[in-house]
Amino acid sequence: MAGQPYVQTVRGPVPASELGRVLPHEHVVCDLVKAEDPTLDASEDAVADLQAFRAAGGASLIDCTSGGLGRNPGLLRAVSEQTGVHIVMGCGWYRESFYAEDMNKVGVNELTERLLADIATGVHGIRPGVIGEIGADHSWLSCAEERVLRACARAQRETGLGLVLHAVKCDVSRWQLDVLEEEGVDLRRVAVAHLDMYPYLDYHEQVARRGAMVSYDRNGPRNPFQQRRRIRHIVEMVERGWASRLLLSHDVCLPGDRARAGGPGFAYLLTHVVPDLRAAGVPDPVIDSILTDNPVRLLVGEKERSAWPSSSPAVMTASASSPSTAPRSATR
Ligand SMILES: [Zn+2]
Repeated sequence: MAGQPYVQTVRGPVPASELGRVLPHEHVVCDLVKAEDPTLDASEDAVADLQAFRAAGGASLIDCTSGGLGRNPGLLRAVSEQTGVHIVMGCGWYRESFYAEDMNKVGVNELTERLLADIATGVHGIRPGVIGEIGADHSWLSCAEERVLRACARAQRETGLGLVLHAVKCDVSRWQLDVLEEEGVDLRRVAVAHLDMYPYLDYHEQVARRGAMVSYDRNGPRNPFQQRRRIRHIVEMVERGWASRLLLSHDVCLPGDRARAGGPGFAYLLTHVVPDLRAAGVPDPVIDSILTDNPVRLLVGEKERSAWPSSSPAVMTASASSPSTAPRSATR
């Protein structure tokens, strides 16, 4: 379709307009605890949770499982085929304590080349559609983490993919965004994940003011106090005019996050958070735009950009027609 931006999913390119409601920060399978078998509980429970997400009105999911976290492209494609949920796969390297041992011997250029090769060819033809999640172990960037981030920045500029940062319980995203800015990345194509675990609204507003997406991605019943605070903060960010910069997800990453284990699964956002936001007075069109338009902004941006030089583009915008990104309300 002329002018249609496409998103690379594990089953191939999908028009951005068909992504529907998107979970922007999840892990279908994940080896966060370096378990012996990262897929131990994954397939069946992941499929059940993806089916519940679809039944609740969801359609797509961004899997932020980067190198070191047990990325499993074949399994992602299999569960996507089984459930019909579009899955956008991540790439890059997570954070230093998860890096392979030789990472300190690899320079930025070599890392950039490895990343570009992964984005261009993928694994058995299953290609990434987003860069991330890319993180830091501490409240500062290690030398290796900074090299990785610079490589990701250069790959972002080359391919036009969105970039997801992992920044938990601290303000390390200041440093990460500085590095990305130095490398010339348009921060509107960057999401700062886990900001709800560093619950300072003025800081979130600074991130949004720099152009980056503010990701509240730990929604769920894990901690009722934190969940109530998260809802308040979403409402407050909307009232402050930042609805167009918000991303909402569950960050399912541990066995206890599955619905069967009492966690959020992949449906909690639609079954619980949306009603809570509605009850708090956030208008339906604003909620809808947060769930549908904002992830598309991260994945393909708002403006025309040159096509990724490949026959099967990761991101492609063929003409001046742009995705539905017009702010509906409460935006600036
Ligand atoms: Zn993370």
